[in-house]
Amino acid sequence: MGYLKDLGALYLAGNYQRFPVAFVRGQGSRLWDEEGQEYLDFCAGIAVCALGHCPEEVVKAVREQTERLLHVSNLYWTEPQARLAQKLVEHSFGDKVFFCNSGAEAVEAALKLARRYAYLNHSPEKTRIVALKNSFHGRTYGALTATGQPAYWEGFEPLVPDFVHIPANDRKALREVLGEKVCALILEPIQGEGGVVPLEQAFLEEARRLCDRFKALLILDEIQTGVGRTGRLWAYEHFGIEPDIMCLAKGLGGGLPLGAMVAREEVMAALTPGSHASTFGGNPVACAAGLAVLKRVLSEGFLEEVRLRGASLARKLEDLAREFPGRVRGVRGQGLLLGLEVEKGLAPEIVKRLFARRILATAPKPEVVRFSPPLTVAYREIDALAQALREILADL
Ligand SMILES: *Cc1c(COP(=O)(O)O)cnc(C)c1O
Repeated sequence: MGYLKDLGALYLAGNYQRFPVAFVRGQGSRLWDEEGQEYLDFCAGIAVCALGHCPEEVVKAVREQTERLLHVSNLYWTEPQARLAQKLVEHSFGDKVFFCNSGAEAVEAALKLARRYAYLNHSPEKTRIVALKNSFHGRTYGALTATGQPAYWEGFEPLVPDFVHIPANDRKALREVLGEKVCALILEPIQGEGGVVPLEQAFLEEARRLCDRFKALLILDEIQTGVGRTGRLWAYEHFGIEPDIMCLAKGLGGGLPLGAMVAREEVMAALTPGSHASTFGGNPVACAAGLAVLKRVLSEGFLEEVRLRGASLARKLEDLAREFPGRVRGVRGQGLLLGLEVEKGLAPEIVKRLFARRILATAPKPEVVRFSPPLTVAYREIDALAQALREILADL
């Protein structure tokens, strides 16, 4: 009983605060622990398992690829990598793709590209990178520096020079900070780890306009919002603007480690041979998984279903906000990336009580419970979550 979590606690770094469970199997929105208990998953590996656990087409694509070719390095071309890049380009603003293995690496690549593009095309002094307070971009040094939450910096300074943070949705601050020295502005369309905080239309439009005016690149970190999570393939589609660079990871590999940076051709041209690289980036198995994920997400009616399921969950959360006006303050987010704003400090307790009922969710902030289920979550699973939340809120 509990053997795996004891084993893990003995030998693994203590950098994660884990729930007291070890999972051994998953299917769709369901997981099973080492004792055979079933869980309902509204976390989905932090928005990674876009098609749920072990989706048939991803498992099949991975199995077939593992029997053919595991790795050759980027000294050579491979079919899954080239085909996945083609798919990403055909269905986005971008022209060229750089593959890596995680979100932080995609952000790191974007920050490096932005500085190098400015260096080659404008001036070596154009190095400033603007990011938002309360943002999250990953844990490597560049990504960590872009992350506008000082709690994540503690004990790791000095950080990378020439980053500035402004409050999200503050157009005045945006106008004050954008200038000739700025090479890039990096934004999440919805701040995920920041507590499901959406950017406003007017703010994104102003960001696009000011970036154009000062020849700064607009980087969208769609690591959490991309690949159908918000009900469109990319969250920027809701806003009618396009970035110069987009960072992807999480849902892209459907459970395999896969990151990507997509850019316009003229921008990506700054990455000349030898300027940046990744040994594992674009691994054939991970890319085969990515192809299977995109094929399904782009299939007829899929994204419309994500919007319908998201609307159903949002409606049920809004009902709870009406039923428990003191404890629940509101509902934020889009598609199947939703946050329930609750009384401060209550979110971890709600997540704990959901866990006791074997339902998985996350609390990125003490006042926000986040739901990021598989995009294929069933309506009756949404009902089950809402009913559990109702009972928990009534009980608190
Ligand atoms: C998760 C996340 C990252 C970091 O991704 P890793 O794969 O953990 O490095 C970066 N940006 C956003 C918006 C994320 O949600």
